[in-house]
Order: sequence, then C-alpha cells, then structure tokens
Amino acid sequence: MALRKIRTQGDRVLEKVCKPVTEMNGRTLELIDDMLETMYQADGVGLAAPQVGILKRIFVIDVSPEGNQPLVFINPEILESSGEQTGYEGCLSVPGKSGVVTRPNHVKCRYQDRDMKWQEIEGDELLARAILHENDHLNGHLYVSLVEGRLYDNSELEQIEDEEASSKE
Ligand code: ZN
Repeated sequence: MALRKIRTQGDRVLEKVCKPVTEMNGRTLELIDDMLETMYQADGVGLAAPQVGILKRIFVIDVSPEGNQPLVFINPEILESSGEQTGYEGCLSVPGKSGVVTRPNHVKCRYQDRDMKWQEIEGDELLARAILHENDHLNGHLYVSLVEGRLYDNSELEQIEDEEASSKE
C-alpha cells in the first residue's frame, strides 16, 4: 500500500466524468487499498478515485468514529433519496475549508464491492451526505458549487463554534 497525492481544486482531473469499472484486477485492488490508506492518513471520511487522479467510478467511505468500517463503492448508483439535511461540509480536495450544503438526509445506493458483487446500502445523515458528496466527484462536481453563502476557513469555523457554545451557557 502507498499514499497517493490528493489533487486539489483547480486540477482539471476533478472536473471530469469517471468511467465505469468493468473488471477487477490487481491494479484496481491496489488503487482501492491506496485510497483507503490516503483517506485515513488525511483524516477524511471519504475519498473518490479522481481525487487521486484516477478517472474510475470508485470511492471509499468510513464514517465510523473509530475509523475501522471501510466501505468501498464501485460503479455506484443512487436509487433513492429523501428528506433534507443542512450542515457544514468539507473536502480533502479543498483543504482547510468548509461550507454549508443542503442535501437529502437519506439515500439508497446500489454499488459493486471489491468482488464486483452488487450490493445495496441505505444511509442517513453523515453516511448519506458522504455517499452523495463522493458520488458527485465521479461526475466531476465539487461540493463548492452547492455551498450556500461562502466558504469558511476551518479556523474561522472553530471560532464561530466556540462563540455559539459560550452563548448557550
Ligand atoms: Zn470531496
């Protein structure tokens, strides 16, 4: 396994539509392992293949607090989405920033696993947000186009949260 370089906003590879994975092979398995390692090392909850410069329909997610429940999505399709959630979102390709994004609160997603077997998953809240965010990457879209208002520096956000916390006391 190896860490891969995370591409950042402005890199044209992030604006391209990714191609479906037609068969699993050693190279793609290595890519998946590298993506997981890169995501964990960067302290992210999700990473899509174009973020490491590969235009394949693959993303990885881990929203568990312990970071020990990796999910691998190959050729994902969003089957259903419902409800609404509004909250801060960030992206490893837009380092140090966050912005408010409204997305569905629930999704149902069909995808292939490492063995190319079709699976279905339903997710709420953070998992739904992560699936939709990563799926957007496969279509060349960054979350910044969905942000309501402006992007915040994360240091600025910590300050706002501190003020909100103290005003509640
Ligand atoms: Zn992202």
